[in-house]
Amino acid sequence: MKYCRFQVSGRPQYGLVETVAGREEITRLLVNAPEDSNGDMEDVPTRRVEPVSLSEATLLAPVRPSKIVCVGRNYRDHAAELGHDVPVEPLIFLKPPSALLAPGGQIRRPKISNRVGHEGELGVVLAKTCYKVGADEDVRPYILGYTCVNDVTARDLQEKDGQWTRAKGFDTFCPVGPVVSDEVDPWAGVIVETRVNGEVRQHGSTVDFIFALDVVIRHISRCMTLLPGDLISTGTPSGVGPLVDGDVVEVSVQGVGILRNSVVDE
Ligand code: MG
Repeated sequence: MKYCRFQVSGRPQYGLVETVAGREEITRLLVNAPEDSNGDMEDVPTRRVEPVSLSEATLLAPVRPSKIVCVGRNYRDHAAELGHDVPVEPLIFLKPPSALLAPGGQIRRPKISNRVGHEGELGVVLAKTCYKVGADEDVRPYILGYTCVNDVTARDLQEKDGQWTRAKGFDTFCPVGPVVSDEVDPWAGVIVETRVNGEVRQHGSTVDFIFALDVVIRHISRCMTLLPGDLISTGTPSGVGPLVDGDVVEVSVQGVGILRNSVVDE
């Protein structure tokens, strides 16, 4: 299934997204938040609404995570382009939930950075509480679905600070959406592409992850408890580059959708 989060009469609601006559429409409201379903989305209660075209809805970020855990350097070609060795274990860092930005929202370039860049990534939404996943345990039941993430980064501040909290943590630096879908399989390969003003900047497949999702989730869960609704961003392919005022950046995840945001100077 696919769902989004959107404004209905000024109130945020989760909506079921279905393809009707070749068009994606919000056809039903989810009665409960998906992150409260304990991963059991098949029989989730819904109620009918007047269908709304997904492209015309006032979308919100489809996640409300307690934390956003990101993986750095999870594609060989991206590690190489930044001059780094291939890591021997997943490199993780956090983005604050205050950085979340809705589909269609404006990424604000802070005055104190001269080099803000895009990182298109596959996002993973957690279905249930996850701590110290066993070596042989299947991680799939812990996953609610997948989405598009732009891990926007102030590249100059990342280099200057040595650690990444500020470079990755500005408000609007975590666009997410437009939907969460459980209809794709990253282990089998999902194309992740980033376009700026229509030009392809990044193109990769999740089959080229250095660390597959089960390794990533197991690794994170050895450190911290992942909660339902938490978001993991799985790293970016090569081709990271700058964003400037007036740009329109799109992150597309095959089978999930296209996350589109504009860029403005603060
Ligand atoms: Mg990244």
